[in-house]
Amino acid sequence: MERRSFLECGAAYGLFSTASDLARASDAAGSAPSVSQTEEVLVIADPHAHPNNIHATRSRDSSMPTLETMKKAGMSLCSFSAVGDRSRYPGRVGTPYSDTQSQLINVKRLEDIGAIRMVLNAIDLRLSADFAGLMAIEGGDALEGQLKYLDAFHAYGVRLMTLMHDHDNEIGFNQRSSSDGPLTPFGVRVVERMNELGMVVDVAHAKASTMRHVAQICTRPIIDSHTSLLASGEDGPGLRRLRPWDEMEVIAKSGGVVCTWPFAYVGHRSQRTTLAHWAHEIVQMKARLGIEHCGIGTDGGGGLPRMVAGWDSIASLDNLIGAFKVAGLTEQDIGAVVGGNFMRVLRKCLV
Ligand SMILES: [Zn+2]
Repeated sequence: MERRSFLECGAAYGLFSTASDLARASDAAGSAPSVSQTEEVLVIADPHAHPNNIHATRSRDSSMPTLETMKKAGMSLCSFSAVGDRSRYPGRVGTPYSDTQSQLINVKRLEDIGAIRMVLNAIDLRLSADFAGLMAIEGGDALEGQLKYLDAFHAYGVRLMTLMHDHDNEIGFNQRSSSDGPLTPFGVRVVERMNELGMVVDVAHAKASTMRHVAQICTRPIIDSHTSLLASGEDGPGLRRLRPWDEMEVIAKSGGVVCTWPFAYVGHRSQRTTLAHWAHEIVQMKARLGIEHCGIGTDGGGGLPRMVAGWDSIASLDNLIGAFKVAGLTEQDIGAVVGGNFMRVLRKCLV
């Protein structure tokens, strides 16, 4: 049986019990598929991670994925996210633009040695034996308020930008800020230009008012690449990165995806400390938003202070998929959550 049919049948009939099974099945099926072999098969794609220490952090954490661990987990595509506001932390040198450039060079090097193939347009989303890299920036600080820098990053290969990171910037406000407001006039131009160029707009870290403004003007689906559900009535400094239902619904309404991450927290009334909690959250999101708007974003290498028990890194993906099954998600649901939905957004955003 040719690889495409093999994979299609496997996915359709639930032959793949885990991500590793899928990877093994892919290997067993032989040579690389043709260009026409695309979204019909199960694809594992991570919209937010910092693999291979491309952001050159000094505090390496064990969650950081490598090409080897991602391939072993059965992944096909991962974002390689540079940190756009890194130079705004104490002790860093360079400007946000130059510092971000220096990180993206590390992604280009991986392409140059043939370790990844870069996704630049919708055709590049075809399934291939080569691991696909999506060049990304977390923190529009890297633009330093200049639209020409957005064009320069796009020309270099960046296809996803998380508008905000840990600082308010020239675009808008971040979730941990004591300030609040919609997009700045520059932020409006950035979102419009990203739509024109064919880039994914990621509202992770964006304060609700900024995020709502993005959704209002964006002509393509938006994503929150790494967040979690803020239970009704919960609040607190440790929970500011989470989103309540009404914010998640704005993202879903754009046709986009809300991606949940491994972050562990304990609130006053709720807790999210196990893979079962993570899976239950997806089940709740399926009921409220629709499965087509649910995803995961690992933030691997992002230095999360606490992660749910059972998740150490992308190597734990099989455990998460197991928890999804126990929670009652179907094979089709799981395929949508672990990559299918994000691939749909990529197809709608990239030109
Ligand atoms: Zn982040």
